Amino acid sequence: MVKKLQRVRSWYGLSGEISVENRLWHLVKVGPVPLPHPPLVNLVLRKGLPHEERLRLSFLHEFGHLQTFPLAFLLAGLLLVSGHRRHRGLRALLKHIVAGAIAHEAVWELSSEAYAIAMAGLEYRRIYRRYPNRLGRFFFWGGRATLATFASLWFRHSGKPNSGSLAPPSVV
Ligand SMILES: [Zn+2]
Repeated sequence: MVKKLQRVRSWYGLSGEISVENRLWHLVKVGPVPLPHPPLVNLVLRKGLPHEERLRLSFLHEFGHLQTFPLAFLLAGLLLVSGHRRHRGLRALLKHIVAGAIAHEAVWELSSEAYAIAMAGLEYRRIYRRYPNRLGRFFFWGGRATLATFASLWFRHSGKPNSGSLAPPSVV
């Protein structure tokens, strides 16, 4: 049984509270900071699952965000460092930021669900064998992996000094 508001403590010492009771909103509180958000991933991935299983896996996914936060933080730092280049104007800079944010979000979602899989173990496989939800899982894993790949490529491309120009490189 998943309680309304569960106190959790991450492996690196940060504590928080997680509520996945509501179908429309999840709440993750990190210290005193509440982070309410729509459970988009859980809606797609848990479609067709019974109430208890849905809440349990959703809780693990949300906890996964907290547990993998250092990874997300590190990735954001890497993106900032690798993206710290001169841009041709505000538009190029904005494109670069959007690409980085999309790639970051996709990777963090994938790693949070990977955490849920690791923690639920065999139960995860049992649940999805019983309630397959192939389309939802395809959209999540396929969609996020595609987003992560293409946004990373876009991020790299938009960070190049001449990315604003469509002209081919000049041949000497
Ligand atoms: Zn998530």
